[in-house]
Amino acid sequence: MAIRPNSIEARDVAHVLHPYTNAVAHEKSGPVMIAGGDGIYVIDSEGNRYIEGLAGLFCASLGFSEKRLVDAATRQMSTLPFYHSFSGKSHETAVELATRLIELAPVPMSKVFFVNSGSEANDTAVKLIWYYHNAIGKPEKKKIISRLRAYHGVTVASASLTGLPYNHRDFDLPIDRVLHTDCPLHYRYAEKDESEDAFATRCAASLEQLIQKEGPETIAAFFAEPLMASGGCIVPPPTYYEKIQAVLKKYDILLVADEVICGFARTGNMFGCESFGIKPDMISMAKQLSAAYQPIAALMINDKIYDGIRIESEKIGTFGHGFTYGAHPVATAVALETLNIYRDRDILGHVRSVMADFQSGLHAFADHPLVGNVRGMGLIGALELVKDKATRESFDMAWGVAGHVGERALAHGLITRALGDTVNFCPPLIITKAEIADMFARAKVALDETH
Ligand code: PLP
Repeated sequence: MAIRPNSIEARDVAHVLHPYTNAVAHEKSGPVMIAGGDGIYVIDSEGNRYIEGLAGLFCASLGFSEKRLVDAATRQMSTLPFYHSFSGKSHETAVELATRLIELAPVPMSKVFFVNSGSEANDTAVKLIWYYHNAIGKPEKKKIISRLRAYHGVTVASASLTGLPYNHRDFDLPIDRVLHTDCPLHYRYAEKDESEDAFATRCAASLEQLIQKEGPETIAAFFAEPLMASGGCIVPPPTYYEKIQAVLKKYDILLVADEVICGFARTGNMFGCESFGIKPDMISMAKQLSAAYQPIAALMINDKIYDGIRIESEKIGTFGHGFTYGAHPVATAVALETLNIYRDRDILGHVRSVMADFQSGLHAFADHPLVGNVRGMGLIGALELVKDKATRESFDMAWGVAGHVGERALAHGLITRALGDTVNFCPPLIITKAEIADMFARAKVALDETH
């Protein structure tokens, strides 16, 4: 469609630089202008309705028209629209929210540090890992291991932790102190006839080899999304984390759980850590923390880390880290109300009551000629598309098969997300069984129309 001169679309092309967008292609296609929302639907500027099959960016857990969150923001705006938390200042909703998060935490946690995005939460974790090891007199223990295909954000440190080529290429990343180990995706990386358990053993052995090669005294921490979402919905084998955590324990390596997508009921438990038996020292969270109605994220730390920070901050005279908008009152008020809604409406119970329908709807695609692998858990899942089901040969990446499915889905009123060769689904947590059926019916038409 031609972009009319001086239209809003033309001004978007002229003035807005879009994240995760091919800039040259965008100059020709222009934007899809989203104008409003209604439950699990978003509505474009021409009035077309789309099921938001990815909850925006894995985040709009309560859909796009939750009045209680609007009211919470309005109330807070008219009492205290802004204050900061520097130099010991505080305000009520930040304290209430921190208290609730500590109560909800899947393992005992000591403190909550508020930031504005998942990237900032993970960046903060990296800085605290270094600060902590200086505090306890182990300044050589600074390297951090994450996994290939991980997604931990886009700031310099968090993009380094991310294990996806396009987040590194030509940004001169990753930084030196970050190393990557194997991705636990059995379908792609297991050897012929290797069981899930044997594959998990091999992943743990490979991690141990990397630690020994680098020197265990230099390895500070391991980062993991419980379920790796942006890498293409990678659900590790059932015994994977048990084996990985045994290695980390052996070499005294901290574990950071990145719950930015898994947190708040997505995998069928309040936290992904509970779904996989993960016992972290720090937890980063964002997105569904505020149902995405306000930008807010948090890093939780345990007593051990806090003890290091308090000693170091006293030695230096201050804890020299913090963001102007960390614990912004409107954001903390909205996040607190989000947690109230999760509790009042038993959102976790709702997820558990619809997730079998979601997973069976997803797995019904296993027979489709384009689908090589179906994977998911709770209310998140993906279809990996292949050129040849028997050999698992991938499509030529330049063709962008999942992107083509996404375009057909859009034409049928469904927004999905293409990540590599995977088509991803992660709808608002409030989705009903009938809406799940409608979402997958639209996805089926889109797949059938992709050649
Ligand atoms: N960690 C995970 C697991 C994510 O999925 C994301 C974003 O998708 C991030 C961190 C980064 O969050 P943000 O985009 O808020 O910086």
